[in-house]
Amino acid sequence: MTTLKVLVVEDDARIADLIAKNLEAAGYECHQAVDGGRALAEFARLKPALVVLDLGLAGMDGLEVTRRIRKDSDVPILMVTARSSEGDKLLGLELGADDYVTKPFSTAELTARVRALLRRSSGTLTDRVLELGALRIDPARRSLEREGEPVPLTTLEFDLLYFLASRPGRVFSREALMEQVWGSDRVVDDRSIDSLISRVRRKLERDPSNPSYLQTVWGAGYRFAEPSP
Ligand code: CA
Repeated sequence: MTTLKVLVVEDDARIADLIAKNLEAAGYECHQAVDGGRALAEFARLKPALVVLDLGLAGMDGLEVTRRIRKDSDVPILMVTARSSEGDKLLGLELGADDYVTKPFSTAELTARVRALLRRSSGTLTDRVLELGALRIDPARRSLEREGEPVPLTTLEFDLLYFLASRPGRVFSREALMEQVWGSDRVVDDRSIDSLISRVRRKLERDPSNPSYLQTVWGAGYRFAEPSP
């Protein structure tokens, strides 16, 4: 098994060392960069499997680094944000970061998120039948079964469900979901995605007001719950 490379971009040496030490203990090969310019150079040189990216960098900030990496790579990006920068977190997710942790974070949490992102990015998403809890989602037949019973879904409902369920745990903003489900040429507003989510919840959830699959992440968007181990 080859060792996966992780690039840690953080201008606070103490935090960078702590992250690197823990990821190395978890079996990853860590490289560090202290600013945006060096991060992009190291990214091009190392081609890491994942980037841990502090948003609060001097000079080129983490959002700009995300934007530039996303121009030609879909590498998983885990943002590290300060609790005070809610807006940056949303923008980061919109720019294509995959997940985030908020300072102060536990190193165990950060390592778990790195692991989850790497696991997801290695799976192929095409035509994979998903079995999640009581659900069976078959993209070839575009069918959903709940506890063995077929549940009829519209095309949009199915597309939304499959998109989220094939990326469990990952948070998507309304904008990202609109783009994925409707495509960028359609003009829809936030309420369209909210009402689509409620329709899918009514068909999916035992208790739609307290969903166990399609969860709201307050201030960020929606995610499909990660199956319990
Ligand atoms: Ca910083």
